[in-house]
Amino acid sequence: MSFTDRRAEQLRAEADHATAVACCTTCQSAPGYDCHHPDGTPAPVHDSRYTEAEGNAA
Ligand SMILES: [Zn+2]
Repeated sequence: MSFTDRRAEQLRAEADHATAVACCTTCQSAPGYDCHHPDGTPAPVHDSRYTEAEGNAA
């Protein structure tokens, strides 16, 4: 596996972790629910959600 593949895998794992453990203060998604845009369409995990996940881990 190349470095790029490992990095992509790590980012995906971090996004999955943040989605699983943290609520999103940007789009108000509860833990376990994916981020979404205001119009309800799926969105990438918001930066604030990573911050929430890190806070929970500390
Ligand atoms: Zn969000």
